Amino acid sequence: LFVAFEGGDGAGKTTQQRLLAEHLRAEGCDDVLVTREPGDSRIGPQVRAIVLDGGELDPRAEALLFAADRADHVAHLIRPALDRGAIVLVDRYIDSSIAYQGEGRGLGRDQIAALSQFATQGLLPDLTVVLDLDEEARRERMERQGSADRIEREPGHVHERVRRAFLDLAAAAPERYLVVDAARPPQDVAADIAVAVARARPV
Ligand code: C5P
Ligand code: MG
Repeated sequence: LFVAFEGGDGAGKTTQQRLLAEHLRAEGCDDVLVTREPGDSRIGPQVRAIVLDGGELDPRAEALLFAADRADHVAHLIRPALDRGAIVLVDRYIDSSIAYQGEGRGLGRDQIAALSQFATQGLLPDLTVVLDLDEEARRERMERQGSADRIEREPGHVHERVRRAFLDLAAAAPERYLVVDAARPPQDVAADIAVAVARARPV
């Protein structure tokens, strides 16, 4: 089973990923891989450093770096884990690229989808959880957290378009998505996710 967590910054993707992993382990799943993009592939740390902390980068170069990270992540971590029967929980995947590079950077959603399809050899999540948060709440959470990377400091209208892209992707394939209101208490959000995962799990 392959589950992706998507949504804007500060929506609680990492928290929900951790809560779901704890829930699944408590239910007796002993092989749960918790991983994230960009970051957990072998080139992930370098990609993070270049894309997030570096200076201005050409948007196409940025898109290709995220895609390279994803290709290595799938080939060396995600696919082997799925092949041995693990449950894989990934913090950001293809939809983040479609939303941020395709929509946010204006490279085109379809082109970025095609690039990700190439990078992953077509590996899609069984379930994608979109943690949806409006722009005001996003900005509030970012300010409270204090640190914002290069992309998180983009103006609000960019984040509005990114949010819209996530929601459009979910609406186009509702059987593979769960959209949750991320402004609710984390335990309530986690309960909804657990139900959707139980439904998506082969018995
Ligand atoms: O989720 P996390 O905060 O680790 O992501 C790091 C940053 O990378 C975020 O600011 C996110 O907006 C950005 N990002 C991106 N395109 C991706 C994945 C992440 O712009 N494909
Ligand atoms: Mg972030």
